[in-house]
Amino acid sequence: MILARYLRNFTNTKLFHQPMPQKQYDYIITGMGCAGLSLAVHMIQSGKFGDKKILLADEAPKDKNDRTWCFWEKDAGTFESIVYRQWEHLWFYSDDFYKEFSIQPYRYKMIRGIDFYNYCYSVIEQHPAFEILYGKIENIFSAKETGIIVEGRTIYSQYVFNSILFEMPSLKKGEHWLLQHFKGWTIKTEEKTFDHHVATLMDFRIAQQHGTSFCYLLPFSATEALVEYTLFTPSLLKEQEYEAGLKNYIENILHIDDYTITGKEFGVIPMTNYRFPTHQANIINIGTAGGQTKGSSGYTFFFIQQHSKALVDSLTRTGKPFITNPSSKFHFYDSVLLHILTNNTLPGKDIFSTLFEKNKVQNVLTFLNNESSLLQDIQIISSLPTLPFLKAAVKQYI
Ligand SMILES: Cc1cc2nc3c(=O)[nH]c(=O)nc-3n(C[C@H](O)[C@H](O)[C@H](O)COP(=O)(O)OP(=O)(O)OC[C@H]3O[C@@H](n4cnc5c(N)ncnc54)[C@H](O)[C@@H]3O)c2cc1C
Repeated sequence: MILARYLRNFTNTKLFHQPMPQKQYDYIITGMGCAGLSLAVHMIQSGKFGDKKILLADEAPKDKNDRTWCFWEKDAGTFESIVYRQWEHLWFYSDDFYKEFSIQPYRYKMIRGIDFYNYCYSVIEQHPAFEILYGKIENIFSAKETGIIVEGRTIYSQYVFNSILFEMPSLKKGEHWLLQHFKGWTIKTEEKTFDHHVATLMDFRIAQQHGTSFCYLLPFSATEALVEYTLFTPSLLKEQEYEAGLKNYIENILHIDDYTITGKEFGVIPMTNYRFPTHQANIINIGTAGGQTKGSSGYTFFFIQQHSKALVDSLTRTGKPFITNPSSKFHFYDSVLLHILTNNTLPGKDIFSTLFEKNKVQNVLTFLNNESSLLQDIQIISSLPTLPFLKAAVKQYI
């Protein structure tokens, strides 16, 4: 087990081996992925945690560009300085409907995983409240005492902020668990090929034989883009099926024959209406394990930032990290859409096409960020085929 404090250096990672102190922390943050690191940065930026002792723990340091995060927001966010690319225009494509949208005042932003990890480490390493521990976390507990067990050793704290999903939840009637899985290639071309001012949010002009399937395209320059083949289905495909899907999209839909693959990404995100517990005693769940992944879209980054901000506000105001549950209306909408996608009563391709064809794009984005008013919700929901949605809504709750 390794205790590393202020020790991260990506060109020459130095980890000091030290005896593990049995000490008390104010907070332990388990998992140094998106949620754990975001929470730490939000704490630091509040300027209120200088007198605390906070332990960040993960199995291993983050030194790979293992994912890219996309999300949309109107203003500059906490991680504005590391936004790699952003777009004010988005394409939506389906067979019968396609359109380039201006999404202003929103901007669709992309952050590279490695930039996020490096940035967070650089901020955390300069802050006296934080220590970093690498080791496999075997358990977290909160009864009389609260803490974690890392490779056989117990470390105590007042609160644990946990982003580790230790086991697959068991689902009850009416709870769905689809997988959003995707394979991406970064491709480079010799000739100018891409309009780097416009990203493609969803392109449904591909076969739907496995279920809801689309590609998206994030152009970094006229000669470089990230292309992703994405599916919302109960199970994964074989490796060669993703590759074939990407090849087909690039060559037969985008009509690009001459390209080099310079990077690869693969990911799986749960799409579920399972209600992840927000907390158990003094364990506060964060990130995907804390229900911050939107069930019907898989988007998580934006919600993690909102959640981190709310936790920090609560800690600074009350000294406690308990926040009121978010409105359940969006959970209901997600459940209905998941019911439809799981039972295949309407093709996802048709639902998303109608959504983008019949509504103002800004309203759709506001709705998908769980920020819409009831009036906006009604306008959006009434644009969708009434009967299948009504049936799904009723079936969801009987
Ligand atoms: C490839 C990929 C691309 C994605 N793209 C987007 C996107 O564009 N937009 C978006 O909004 N969302 C996206 N997501 C979804 C979501 O934002 C990410 O999954 C995000 O990383 C979730 O944050 P998290 O902190 O909950 O989990 P993670 O970032 O996975 O962090 C969990 C951490 O816990 C650690 N850990 C796990 N088990 C243990 C253990 N036993 N002991 C010690 N440490 C442990 C892991 O090492 C990891 O660092 C993407 C997901 C993936 C996989």
